[in-house]
Amino acid sequence: MTKQEFIEQAENVLMHTYNRYQMVLDRGDGVYLYDTDGKKYLDFAAGIAVFALGYNNKEYNDALKGQIDKLLHTSNLYYNEPAISAATKLLKASGMDRVFFTNSGTEAIEGAVKLARKYFYNKNKEADSEVISMNNSFHGRSMGALSITGQPKYREAFEPLIGGVVFADFNDLESIKNKINKKTCAIILEPVQGEGGLYPADKEFLIELRKLCDDNDILLIFDEIQCGMGRTGTMFAYQGYGVKPDIITTAKALGCGVPVGAFAATSKAAAAFEAGDHGSTYGGNPFVTAAVSKVFDLFESKHIVEHVQEVSAYLEEKLNGLVSKYDFITERRGKGLMQGLQFNGPVKDYIAKAMEKGLIIITAGGDTIRLVPPLIITKEHVDEMIEILESCF
Ligand SMILES: *Cc1c(COP(=O)(O)O)cnc(C)c1O
Repeated sequence: MTKQEFIEQAENVLMHTYNRYQMVLDRGDGVYLYDTDGKKYLDFAAGIAVFALGYNNKEYNDALKGQIDKLLHTSNLYYNEPAISAATKLLKASGMDRVFFTNSGTEAIEGAVKLARKYFYNKNKEADSEVISMNNSFHGRSMGALSITGQPKYREAFEPLIGGVVFADFNDLESIKNKINKKTCAIILEPVQGEGGLYPADKEFLIELRKLCDDNDILLIFDEIQCGMGRTGTMFAYQGYGVKPDIITTAKALGCGVPVGAFAATSKAAAAFEAGDHGSTYGGNPFVTAAVSKVFDLFESKHIVEHVQEVSAYLEEKLNGLVSKYDFITERRGKGLMQGLQFNGPVKDYIAKAMEKGLIIITAGGDTIRLVPPLIITKEHVDEMIEILESCF
């Protein structure tokens, strides 16, 4: 089939929930992707912050192949070794005490909100609790996760969503204080808002928020699905702020290509769940947790976090250079290898041009270019990206 025939067939069989770029991807290697015509692309999107270790990592692939031949799946009615190993490594990296594996980020959010509600229920012997979420946030597409996503464009057509959710302004402590009442069970936010446009939380805001939660016995939930797993220069973004949540969600780079997420909690919060409160058929099966386990090993042996600190400083410097050079680029925002370039108008033409020239980048909102490359990129890759990007202006 030709590329055009592939695309035509796709549009005839897949639901139209995405406006896809005219590209049929075939294989990946390191930080490069190849389409079915053999064209090579430098990838600064990484499957939306998924492929932290790049494509076609041999050790990772071998771990998965080995697990396929042993045991792909077993239900959560039994124990399996990869899940225990992955859980142990995730808890060590995240500083949490208990974890539940899910099949996606959205499901990690669902679990986190359920855990917070159950915590409230145990304490007050009644349900009817409220979650405070942030305007401009993104937490996923299921009815529960959508209910706490603070962007009307995603929500409007699907109401009524779940109740017991109120929105406050990100980085605005007063706005949150105004929403707290005796029903408040949890406050959820992304330490660096991703989808909403790469806005990092202020350190002072998070410190004060932590105090507010402690004073009122409210659980603090950090959605680190995008900003976690080394992306901001610490294993989890909260560690860079020195503000520890009660519950953390992760996914995207957790599996580096296999569908897996997790929510993890401190003992105090996790103790709210009893047998029967939550479950998943596939969640944390041996196949995906063998991947997670290997991902943590590779993060350690390749010193990914230290590498991100070094290369992201270089990327920031180069992006700041673009901001001062071009007056149509108004701002650089973000943290580590999670960077946004704000333009004074739509960026979709630049994205299309970059693709033609062999660079894959994505947006966050219509006027911001989002850069979330594999964490293994080098300064040479940054230079290559900047050169292609500039040639598109
Ligand atoms: C991607 C994302 C989600 C949803 O994760 P899925 O794996 O797509 O379900 C939730 N929260 C944040 C911050 C995300 O970036």
